[in-house]
Amino acid sequence: MNSKHTETKAIRTQIERTQFQEHSNPIYLTSSYIFEDAEDMQASFADEKERNIYSRYSNPNTSEFIEKICEMEGAERGYAFASGMSAVFSTFAALLNSNDHIVSCQSIFGSTQSLFNNILPKWNISTSYFKIDEIEKIEKLIKPNTKIIYAESPTNPAVDILDLKIIGDIAKKHNIIFIVDNCFATPYLQQPIKFGADLVIHSATKLIDGQGRVLGGVTVGKEELVEKVYLFSRNTGPALSPFNAWILSKSIETLPVRIEKHCDNALKIATFLESHEKVQLVKYPFLKSHPQHQLAKQQMKFGGNIVAFEVKGGIDAGRNFINSIKLLSLSANLGDTRSIVTHPASTTHSKLAEEARLETGITAGLIRISVGLEHTEDIINDLNQALNNA
Ligand SMILES: *Cc1c(COP(=O)(O)O)cnc(C)c1O
Repeated sequence: MNSKHTETKAIRTQIERTQFQEHSNPIYLTSSYIFEDAEDMQASFADEKERNIYSRYSNPNTSEFIEKICEMEGAERGYAFASGMSAVFSTFAALLNSNDHIVSCQSIFGSTQSLFNNILPKWNISTSYFKIDEIEKIEKLIKPNTKIIYAESPTNPAVDILDLKIIGDIAKKHNIIFIVDNCFATPYLQQPIKFGADLVIHSATKLIDGQGRVLGGVTVGKEELVEKVYLFSRNTGPALSPFNAWILSKSIETLPVRIEKHCDNALKIATFLESHEKVQLVKYPFLKSHPQHQLAKQQMKFGGNIVAFEVKGGIDAGRNFINSIKLLSLSANLGDTRSIVTHPASTTHSKLAEEARLETGITAGLIRISVGLEHTEDIINDLNQALNNA
């Protein structure tokens, strides 16, 4: 690890150049690599972490992408995946045995919740959940077979903040692996390893690409844990493609400037919404009104690009608001240059019973905006007319 600033690491962390001395990073679209002779072949397999053998194991483009994320997160090692969910699944599959137990925050990404509730139980792996405002209960949920504590902060879609240091201390005290999905914050705003996380997972599909083009994921952290994730993954095949790794590696070069602008725009949108008469409540970590504002300022450089708010008038008003939107996109993605609005109660979380929805902070009129990079006046004009029609 070097002592350069994050912006510099994002741009200057690179693999070796070829004899052409390209300034920008080339793409290595190759599935395998050649050996000089029998001795070199043997040496390569003996030393596979240092050499490229086959692109399911490693590739110069995926290595560069992983190295950049490791530099920014302060991690020892990583492995890159075809999507955020393949990173989540492979990490859990690599580290857990049948009959193990997970303690997780209840407010987590929907597919991760499905993994815990519907897929891991096939191997008799069970999960106990704590709510965002009861981290003091975590210790009571720990059992002798608890192997992983899992959390996201800020949470989706209600942008609540969890105290990662407190959770990290509990995990350390009980010798349990602490994993954080850092997708909403990105490594530019928050480095969970500083607060005690052993592994950090990203969906690179979101703000790391930031332009809505490719799927990707990555797990980084402690050497001995990543070694297990690597051995599982190199034999099961969820690897990121070299082409997508090249795109993501280029994207990281502009991550710091993009994120600063995203956060700047989001704070302006949140401030506008707070002043609007049709809005009941605005949740944005860097607004003074956010219940965990102080904690957010300690953990994060800026507030992120997700703003949640409550339209007055419940589920019908929420739906009317969405139907009146003209400029912003209605899409399931987030972390794009284009601003996106969603109404979780009638879409992503519509299958949950109302009580379960409310427990994860999703009220009937809750709207989530992933604030993009358009001019804020244009975003505000669209939100304003849609609110007046709600
Ligand atoms: C999108 C997302 C994922 C899953 O990532 P994919 O790249 O879509 O597979 C995981 N966690 C969070 C918080 C996400 O927003």
